[in-house]
Amino acid sequence: MEKKLTCIVCPLGCELVVTEKNGVVSVSGNTCPKGEAYAKNELTNPMRTVTSTVLCEDGGLVSVKTDTTIPKEKMQECMQIINSITAKLPISVGDIIIKDVFGSNIVATQNRSK
Ligand code: SF4
Repeated sequence: MEKKLTCIVCPLGCELVVTEKNGVVSVSGNTCPKGEAYAKNELTNPMRTVTSTVLCEDGGLVSVKTDTTIPKEKMQECMQIINSITAKLPISVGDIIIKDVFGSNIVATQNRSK
């Protein structure tokens, strides 16, 4: 099996080719070891950081993100959880808005006052 990927670890965006033969995965096209690790992970357990906004009690929004990556397959459920809450103000950068969403906290990436 062969799969082509664009590495998203850094802005260089190397074009990777991942090949799996008899359970052995090899990667080419990467400029650094991070690309190899990314490609192997994409094949077995793809992970993503989720960025979004949460509704605040004043009707405005606050930008948020997961503080670690979560399984790619859980992104939609994560968004449903993020969209289901209303955050209390004030909020500071780094505040945990929702705890333990698929092993990650949803944290604020901006300040919001009342
Ligand atoms: S392989 Fe390395 S240099 Fe290339 S995009 Fe990925 S992280 Fe950047």
